[in-house]
Amino acid sequence: MKKALIIGSGFSGCVPAMLLKEKGWSVTVIEKADFVGGGVRTFLYGEHPFTYGPRHFLSPYPEAYSFLNKYVPLRDLKKINYTYIESDQTFFTYPPHRDDIGKMAEAEQIQKELDVLPEESHAINFETFWTQRVGETLYSKFIKHYNKRAWLLDSNTEMDFGFEATVKRKPLETGERYEFKDWYNCYPIPHDGYNRFFDIALDECEVLLNTNVTGFDLERTTLHINDQKIKGDIIISTISPDILMDCQYGELKYVGRDFLKFVLPIEHVFPKDVYFIYYPNENDTQTRVVEYKKFTLHESPHTLLSVEVPSLKNKLYPTMIQSEVDKAKQYIDALPADVYSVGRMGTYRYIDIDDIIMQSMEFVGTL
Ligand SMILES: Cc1cc2nc3c(=O)[nH]c(=O)nc-3n(C[C@H](O)[C@H](O)[C@H](O)COP(=O)(O)OP(=O)(O)OC[C@H]3O[C@@H](n4cnc5c(N)ncnc54)[C@H](O)[C@@H]3O)c2cc1C
Repeated sequence: MKKALIIGSGFSGCVPAMLLKEKGWSVTVIEKADFVGGGVRTFLYGEHPFTYGPRHFLSPYPEAYSFLNKYVPLRDLKKINYTYIESDQTFFTYPPHRDDIGKMAEAEQIQKELDVLPEESHAINFETFWTQRVGETLYSKFIKHYNKRAWLLDSNTEMDFGFEATVKRKPLETGERYEFKDWYNCYPIPHDGYNRFFDIALDECEVLLNTNVTGFDLERTTLHINDQKIKGDIIISTISPDILMDCQYGELKYVGRDFLKFVLPIEHVFPKDVYFIYYPNENDTQTRVVEYKKFTLHESPHTLLSVEVPSLKNKLYPTMIQSEVDKAKQYIDALPADVYSVGRMGTYRYIDIDDIIMQSMEFVGTL
């Protein structure tokens, strides 16, 4: 029987674990935390279910939807995002909507800029991408400061790789305000979110919790844990690839979040269909506030909110900076044939749950 060693039990560890087990492999999953599921695990705060970050399932891929929906029934969301514009002292929907421009203090200037936008844009970085699509004023109001704070950048011109991934639907919206109406936009029906998927995926796998890998002998597909060496036929790593090679080409840069959660003594805070509120003003500290029961439909006379504040205390988001992406590629290219680096950290790409399912199905199919 062939044996796979998988580092990390998030989505990008669990999906390959499940698919390899179905192909008759023996699978050992090594997880440093005391729980499985990584960033998408649902926890309780008091009685309120929550994840760190909202983690709804957003996808254009029917295969990814069908795969997950079999194990965790998914419910469609009709979701609107608000953004608070301090200078207008009001909330607008996000992305900025054409019908709202007349209500903005700079309406005339914004319209002038929209009238002269280039037919075709040739963006070299995040800033030119946005200014060429919505003009300087709308960019400054809705995007500029938010993005600098979200990625802890001095200037948005530093973001020069894959910045298109940050756009929701269209840069300037028209018509209905619900996000991603032509995609699957869903959330698990069960109270414990995606957790049952992790349990099903890892059933009959060996799962070592609270276990840190302290050494990587990649050529011999061997890992050092708790003073022991374990050998597999392949290693699937879902952690940052620099860790596998002792940061020999330099440490990869990531941005994290502090999540501040609190319960309020009121049934609902946000208006109907509003799930997120973004804060894009220059002096804001938080980037986003989420009302969790919009996603979970948890019934309670109280409601749980979380406030997200960009931070370097944890590593959650790979950056979209070409030099960092190149550095990650150097690590990934240097891996021996039987070592696979997958998932959000493993590929150093801004990818979501659905991409991870698609990626896992594809690469496990080749094994
Ligand atoms: C705040 C936030 C919000 C998001 N929201 C959404 C969303 O709404 N919709 C969506 O589709 N996607 C969302 N994503 C992206 C998506 O959740 C991730 O791409 C996906 O969950 C990543 O899964 P993963 O298994 O690659 O990583 P993780 O879930 O981070 O799992 C990695 C696992 O590896 C373990 N580990 C780390 N180091 C070691 C080690 N040395 N030894 C052993 N184990 C180790 C960790 O403990 C963890 O369990 C969001 C991401 C973030 C950060």
